[in-house]
Amino acid sequence: NLSDRLQKIFKNLRGQGKLTEENIQSALREVRMALLEADVHYKVAKDFVASIAERAIGQEVMQSLTPGQQVIKIVNEALTELMGGRAEPLRLIGKPPVCLMMVGLQGSGKTTTTAKLARKLVQEKRRPCLVPADVYRPAAIDQLVTLAGQLKLPVYASSVQQRPEEIAREALAYAKQQNCDTLLVDTAGRLHVDTELMAELGRLKEILEPNEILLVADAMTGQDAVQVAGKFHDMLGVTGVILTKLDGDARGGAALSIRSVTNCPIKFIGTGEKLDALEVFHPDRMSSRILGMGDVLSMIEKAQEAFDEKQAQELAQKFREDTFSLEDFRNQLKQIKKLGSLEQILGMLPGMGMLKELKKMQVDEKEFVRMEAIINSMTKGERKNADIINASRRRRIADGSGTSVQEVNRLLKSYNESRKMMRQMMGGGSAGKKKKGKV
Ligand code: GDP
Ligand code: MG
Repeated sequence: NLSDRLQKIFKNLRGQGKLTEENIQSALREVRMALLEADVHYKVAKDFVASIAERAIGQEVMQSLTPGQQVIKIVNEALTELMGGRAEPLRLIGKPPVCLMMVGLQGSGKTTTTAKLARKLVQEKRRPCLVPADVYRPAAIDQLVTLAGQLKLPVYASSVQQRPEEIAREALAYAKQQNCDTLLVDTAGRLHVDTELMAELGRLKEILEPNEILLVADAMTGQDAVQVAGKFHDMLGVTGVILTKLDGDARGGAALSIRSVTNCPIKFIGTGEKLDALEVFHPDRMSSRILGMGDVLSMIEKAQEAFDEKQAQELAQKFREDTFSLEDFRNQLKQIKKLGSLEQILGMLPGMGMLKELKKMQVDEKEFVRMEAIINSMTKGERKNADIINASRRRRIADGSGTSVQEVNRLLKSYNESRKMMRQMMGGGSAGKKKKGKV
């Protein structure tokens, strides 16, 4: 995928001590190919590479001690800009109930995303009300009613006999009566953009006067998603895009092109089928995810949702200060174990080694227990400073935990790897930033 391709290109580049204009150009040609293969709009890819070339082929980069690193930094910044630069929050200010209108093609994930978004709003102390307005498929109404039940949220009981316009009017009144401050309207979808649907959505827009019209688009459809976003935007005035199914083998092209092609910000991304799999879209984090720099911040936020905030903040601080010990590593394992959707977290963890290691664990839950046992068999001092764990200590730890030296080695390797990656993420990887111990 795109991420792997780019990482390989930059690994090569980083390996070269001194960069010439020639090898930067050839790397950028490869970047362009990788973007095109990831289904990035050709013009976006072309402009993107041109803007990098302009910045990268300069005195500063070529003469720096770490030219490869510099190029990656430039690419990272350019990718971030390409996706809009910064996160765009929902506009929720206005006389309650404020309305969010969800639109998009059939199967894009509209109904699921409506429920996910409602769940997020509840976490932000809002009182959302759900409104199914897809009267063409009875199952669609049931689906949202069921999801509302799971979330214990009020839902306007639409029926297939009603016209969408009537539902909209009555739902507004219902929301007021239920003391809800936010109305989330799940509209009908079609297989393709058609004028009849657009007309209906236009009428709903007039009645609902939505604060946001959120287009839900399936990232797996690549350039089609971009086209669809463009059409909806032209006809309806979309205020934000929610890109779903980024957990699958989406090639990433949609995320990279939508903003610059349609000028609509991506506001959220869907990363799974479960209701907690919706994240605020952060262009900078997405960029580092694509470049394989991991996404520690999103991971921490995810953790924050599941555990108490204090704990997560301490963790963030430890990454920053490079005081992340084996003890913390053990706590992290415990936390990951507690989490429902391990795969989501995995996608965000920096470092493939760590990822593979953890993926193995997912297959075998017992591995978690063994890793914990290994850390439990260490002394306090060893947990604080893994560097002192020499061969004889490894032997002792293996015996104590009923594991093997190989397993102890594997654990230490994965700990060191994650620590190294975290440090790179947090401090740009400079050696001068080290506080304690060494790798
Ligand atoms: P709608 O027709 O637009 O309302 O789409 P639905 O909400 O019914 O979703 C269609 C399918 O996509 C369902 O099977 C969802 O579980 C799935 N889906 C929605 N969002 C995501 C996502 O972010 N990731 C994954 N993997 N599946 C999703
Ligand atoms: Mg639906």
